[in-house]
Amino acid sequence: MSLKSICCIGAGYVGGPTCSVIAYRCPDIKVTVVDLSVERITQWNSDVLPIFEPGLDDIVKSVRNKNLFFSTDITAAINEADLIFICVNTPTKSYGLGKGRAADLKYIESAARMIADVASQSKIVVEKSTVPVKAAESISNILRANQKPGVKYQVLSNPEFLAEGTAVKDLLNPDRVLIGGEQNHDGQQAIATLAWVYKHWVPEDNVITMNTWSSELSKLAANAFLAQRISSINAMSAVCEYTGADVSEVAHAVGMDSRIGNKFLKASVDEPVIGKASIGFGGSCFQKDVLNLVYLCECLNLPEVADYWQQVININEYQRRRFANRIIQCLFNTVTNKKIAIFGFSFKKDTGDTRESAAIYVVKYLLEEGAHIRIYDPKVETEQMFRELTHPSISDDPEKG
Ligand code: ADP
Repeated sequence: MSLKSICCIGAGYVGGPTCSVIAYRCPDIKVTVVDLSVERITQWNSDVLPIFEPGLDDIVKSVRNKNLFFSTDITAAINEADLIFICVNTPTKSYGLGKGRAADLKYIESAARMIADVASQSKIVVEKSTVPVKAAESISNILRANQKPGVKYQVLSNPEFLAEGTAVKDLLNPDRVLIGGEQNHDGQQAIATLAWVYKHWVPEDNVITMNTWSSELSKLAANAFLAQRISSINAMSAVCEYTGADVSEVAHAVGMDSRIGNKFLKASVDEPVIGKASIGFGGSCFQKDVLNLVYLCECLNLPEVADYWQQVININEYQRRRFANRIIQCLFNTVTNKKIAIFGFSFKKDTGDTRESAAIYVVKYLLEEGAHIRIYDPKVETEQMFRELTHPSISDDPEKG
């Protein structure tokens, strides 16, 4: 069950770090990461990588141009590979059916079509991007409808659980690796091949296999549970503010129950700041995945379940609104013409990623109130800040008057 060459389509926050660690841990495998963006690939091949993650620079530099390659020659990389990871972006749809909730699968579809167009030998295709349940089936249908004679595909689901800011640590020591595939002979062989890659460094017991849909849903469920914990403690923080209770003390007491645990309730050195009662979660995953789950439940005619998970998002928006309003209240109910400094613009520490950052929402809110804002973030380019602040996003709060 071995292989020689891996291609990764998409050199972003998921594909770049994941495949760098695979190349680092599997010197016997050639890993080529491709992207449509010439700029991104040029950056991956330069001294300044396009994304910041602690520890990533050293790993990339140690294996780049040995068994790790970054390229725009997508056709050649697909053809050479035994196994292809699809790591393209799946943003929330900003138009049409499912707008603001469903995941936009156009990039996944175009990657699948590209594979079918150019592959002249059988391939294992692995969806790593977070996708709605049953996306693997759509990828299979596209591949099989367009396959060349003699070419066969096996499609696996292998969702990524890395957290930005600790991506390298998470990839080197994953809590678990999840692989979903078809429950037949060929499917099991494909699963075993991908499991063989991970077993280069992940203990066998931590590699779990299951059917494709369980794997796809497990990723959405894991992110929904994490987001729900944050909304739960944030909801408590509002009660605390009105009662004189201290939310850190409550989090400490609640977290000491071993059935609940203290992670994502109380900040400590090895825990993301996002986890404590705070301004709410940001980032490209939690909101997108919970919305995705809500949309799935609506499509399955499960309105009660959809409403339950929607409330996790509603509390997050409520928390951000409360935070911005508190600033205004503390400044004598007006920020017009007041100078306000914002320290940090990315969605959490140790990353330059600004997608769905709570900072965007707060800054837009204060600007609308007439404040003068200065923003400092050592990991975010000024242009990126302007881009985020001048584009409508799903963070825009419909309830803000
Ligand atoms: P994620 O956080 O999911 O990794 P990113 O937006 O950081 O998302 O990265 C996705 C990458 O996928 C982008 O660099 C984008 O240019 C690339 N991409 C999207 N569609 C294709 C495609 N069909 N072929 C190659 N690269 C693609």
